[in-house]
Amino acid sequence: MRAFLCLTPAPECALAIEKWAASCWPNISRRVPAANLHITLAFLGETDRSTIMRITEMMSEQQMVHEFSMLFDKVGYWPQPQVLWLGSHQPAGSVAVLAGYCRQIANRAGIRVSNRQFEPHITIARKPSMPPQSALLDPAFDLAFDSVQLCESILDRRGARYVVHEEWPLRLTSA
Ligand code: ATP
Ligand code: MG
Repeated sequence: MRAFLCLTPAPECALAIEKWAASCWPNISRRVPAANLHITLAFLGETDRSTIMRITEMMSEQQMVHEFSMLFDKVGYWPQPQVLWLGSHQPAGSVAVLAGYCRQIANRAGIRVSNRQFEPHITIARKPSMPPQSALLDPAFDLAFDSVQLCESILDRRGARYVVHEEWPLRLTSA
């Protein structure tokens, strides 16, 4: 299956991001629907069952970071691969640590994960017909994360659909 490890915003936050993106870029094509908004920690690609099982085992044994939140207040556009995204001026340290764990575990399972500099982001539109104008309203979404997911990506003509196969809780922050 085509798989990736990710963080997912709470549904009410995903809906707020979708609403904000729709008002800033009303005519943009290929906007990502609320249900699909996520931060990829490690893209695993086409992965067989036994590799998924190894990754699942290692993720379950991994000492995770504490739950954390992060302010998403930055809009970016990568002309290649034509991705409009929402990121952070000050990414939480925890997100980089988590992405490091996920990449390391994927590597140990024999998957070559890109070692490109990790920029935590939520893709909000893919391959728009033209480079988007700047956002009408600056974003300020404070998102809390308390788990990491292993998702399957099912691609068809209507676009991508993600199915959560596994979920690992982050460590509780003591009061
Ligand atoms: P579509 O490919 O139809 O635009 P999608 O990108 O949402 O949909 P996938 O291509 O399965 O679906 O990607 C799942 C996640 O992994 C997305 O967050 C995507 O940005 C990321 N991803 C996909 N390919 C790579 C890659 N080669 N390197 C890093 N991340 C990737
Ligand atoms: Mg893709």
